Amino acid sequence: MPIDASLPYDDANIFARILRGEIPAKKVYEDAYALAFHDIAPQAPVHLLVIPKGRYVSWDDFSAKASDAEIGGFVRAVGQVAREAGLAGDGYRLLANMGEHGHQEVPHLHVHIFGGRQFLAMLP
Ligand code: ADP
Repeated sequence: MPIDASLPYDDANIFARILRGEIPAKKVYEDAYALAFHDIAPQAPVHLLVIPKGRYVSWDDFSAKASDAEIGGFVRAVGQVAREAGLAGDGYRLLANMGEHGHQEVPHLHVHIFGGRQFLAMLP
């Protein structure tokens, strides 16, 4: 079910638990600002998730409240993860679902990186 992104941050959410090391993830990248890991239900040959280390529910929350250093660090990390996955040459797709209409399911901001094949020109 999509989340209500206006709710306060929930420290029990699955990505918070991955950040705390309480449940496993196939990690591919980590720095001071971001953690990246394989999506558990990949929708493309490469499907990675990048999350900020801070407690941000959504893109709306992050863009309004995160520091410039956090935002800059996170954006750089997304690009670095894609490069390290070998996607920069052929290209890739980024997606951040936000709230109910965006069909966001996990209430910790995450950017999907999809790659490894050609995607349709239009999103559904
Ligand atoms: P949607 O599921 O509608 O795409 P999101 O944008 O919130 O909504 O995406 C959540 C993503 O998190 C899904 O792609 C899902 O497969 C992934 N996911 C859920 N639990 C885990 C987990 N434990 N480890 C890795 N990925 C997960």
